[in-house]
This record gives sequence, structure tokens and C-alpha cells, in this order.
Amino acid sequence: MALNFRDDSRPLCILCNTCDGYPCRIEAKNDLTATVLRQAQTQGLEIRAGVIAKRLVSDGARVRELECVDGETGEDYVFTGSRYIVAGGALQTPALLLRSGLGATPGGRWVGRRLMRHCNAVVTGVFRKRTNPEGTFHKQLCFTDFYDDMRDRFGTATGTIQDIYTPARQVIEHHAPPGLRWAAGWLTAFMQNLLCIAEDDPRVDNRVTLGEPDRFGVAAPRVDHEYCAADYERRDYLVARARRVLQVAGAWTTRVYEIDSFSHGVGSVGMASTPEQGALDAQCKVWGMDNLWVPDGSAFSTSSGVNPSLTIAANALRVTPAMIATNA
Ligand SMILES: Cc1cc2nc3c(=O)[nH]c(=O)nc-3n(C[C@H](O)[C@H](O)[C@H](O)COP(=O)(O)OP(=O)(O)OC[C@H]3O[C@@H](n4cnc5c(N)ncnc54)[C@H](O)[C@@H]3O)c2cc1C
Ligand code: SF4
Repeated sequence: MALNFRDDSRPLCILCNTCDGYPCRIEAKNDLTATVLRQAQTQGLEIRAGVIAKRLVSDGARVRELECVDGETGEDYVFTGSRYIVAGGALQTPALLLRSGLGATPGGRWVGRRLMRHCNAVVTGVFRKRTNPEGTFHKQLCFTDFYDDMRDRFGTATGTIQDIYTPARQVIEHHAPPGLRWAAGWLTAFMQNLLCIAEDDPRVDNRVTLGEPDRFGVAAPRVDHEYCAADYERRDYLVARARRVLQVAGAWTTRVYEIDSFSHGVGSVGMASTPEQGALDAQCKVWGMDNLWVPDGSAFSTSSGVNPSLTIAANALRVTPAMIATNA
């Protein structure tokens, strides 16, 4: 889980219960800020926070410069370098490429296409006893038992089921129907949740295009996305199994919450073996460009039905030697 349990020259994980959705206050989570970026800073990396990348400017097959604006002061910047690596996430990366005219590269018609985000739901079980009386670490289980159950039928993974924290009492109360708020808040301590992460299809019509300009005149991403019947079928299959697991474990009632966010957005640029099939080659280099790479979640060609970030990190590490070796 990329937590620091071993290196006692740094703070060790204390197994608290805010690991999901929050930075680690003691920096025991081996995320980018605590590890790679910090190390790179000692070797000369400069981080400019709050700077918005507006447009890459190219001469033929080479990116020449990056135009940016400071999100606070509105001041414009230009950065130049030999290699350009875009990692703005599955919504912003294609938007930047489209703003930069890179939809005209050999695989450019795929830029913004095949946006995926998993088809997710949380199944909550309410138990007769407190589920986490010590208020300790919640990420403990992940079932891959059902991962390939529908492969023959759909040619995809089905997905995974893992436990996920119960939001704070105040959050549960806020979202509960009026009249039930106090009761829902009180039940928080008796809840255990399973998150079902179903693979979704890479559909060409699920896409990022350019929308209205923001206050700096930068066109923001516009997202069009619809799930297909197979996405829902995979999710419902996992939900039924998660519900059964909770019931067998003793839940007296269960409830399903759909997740309708892009928190797992991936795939909107896409690696492929030819530019006819995707915008990036197998090393995440933009087809037809000599010095431009996209090693973030938008490089995925399928969504894989597992939490994405470790695969994103592993893939970025995988392609880094090729970036360095390229004579840019
Ligand atoms: C609440 C929440 C919980 C999650 N929990 C998990 C989990 O438990 N496990 C897991 O594996 N995944 C989890 N995810 C998903 C995971 O965080 C993402 O899949 C992953 O971070 C995506 O990585 P990325 O590099 O593609 O993009 P991001 O991590 O989104 O990085 C993109 C970066 O680019 C910056 N950026 C974007 N546009 C611009 C621009 N124009 N100029 C300058 N900077 C820009 C953004 O500010 C951001 O820092 C969670 C996501 C959320 C929201
Ligand atoms: S469990 Fe708590 S202490 Fe451990 S890494 Fe996560 S946030 Fe940090």
C-alpha cells in the first residue's frame, strides 16, 4: 500500500484512519511529495505551485516551449526544455494537448477519446457491533476472487472489491435525508463498507473536448460520458457479491451508494501499438513527436478494474528510462 513501515529515518505509519482522501500529516505515506519530488528537489528540481499550463508550442515534431499562467497573479510564463512530460490527469491532459493543436498528430484523433472512470459503487453493511472501535487503519482487504469471472463474456476484467473508510459522522449526517440525520450519524460507528471497482469499456464517445474559456482565457475540458449496459452489469455483479460478503459477516442490513465522480478517470489519450489505435506509443511518447511524453492515467488503454494510482506510478517508472535514453 506504499506506506512507510520500515524506514525509521522517516516517520513510520501509525495506522490512523484518515489515509483515504487526505495527505498524511506525518508524511508516512510514500506519495510523490514525500518521496520522488523531495529527492528530485535535492538534485535541482524546481516546483512552481499554482502555475497553469496553457499550451505547448511546437515546431513540427518538436515541442519548443510551454506557455503558462500563474493562477494567483495572472502573470504569463514561458518554460523551455529538451523534454516535455505532461501528467495533468485524464481530464486535463487531453485538454492541454487539444489546446496545443496536438489533435493533429498521427494518433491525434484519439486525444480525448475513450475516457474511462470505472463503474463504482459502495456497499455499506450496518452491524450490531462497532466496526472500528479503536478508530484505526481501514484499508485492509481487497478481493480479487471475482476479477476474471466475466472475462469470457466481455473480454474484460470484472473488477475488484476492497474495504473503504466510513466518512465522518458529520458527513453522513449532512447527506442523510432530513429527519433521519441523527440516526444515520449514530449508525456511522456500526458501518463497514466495501467499494466495488468495476472495469468500464473504453468507448470512443466517452470523451474530453474543449469547453468554455476560464478567467485566463484557457479553454477548460468539457466531459461527455455515459456508461454502457456491460459496465453496469459488471458493477452489479460485484455489488451482489459484496453484499453477500457483508451479510455472511453479520450485517443486518446493507445499502448501495453509486459513485458518480471522475476520481478514477483514466484512458483519454491511450497507448497503442500503432497511431491508428491510440495517441501514444508503448513508451507513452506521443506518436509523431520527438520530445513529448504522457505517462499519467490518460495513457491507459483499459481501466483494469483496480484502484489506478499504483499502476500509474509503475507505468511512469517503466517508461522513464526510455524518456532519458531518447536523444531529445
Ligand atoms: C478522493 C479520492 C480518493 C482516491 N483514492 C484512491 C486510492 O485509494 N487508490 C488509488 O489507487 N487511487 C485513488 N484515487 C485515484 C487516484 O488519485 C488517481 O487515479 C491518480 O491520482 C491519477 O493520477 P494522474 O497522475 O493521472 O493525475 P493526477 O494525480 O490527477 O495529477 C494531475 C496533476 O496535474 C495538475 N494539473 C492538471 N492540469 C494542469 C494544468 N493545466 N497546469 C498545471 N497543472 C495541472 C493537477 O493539479 C494535478 O496535480 C482517488 C482519487 C480521489 C479523488
Ligand atoms: S495510515 Fe495514517 S499514518 Fe499511515 S500513511 Fe496513512 S495517513 Fe499516514
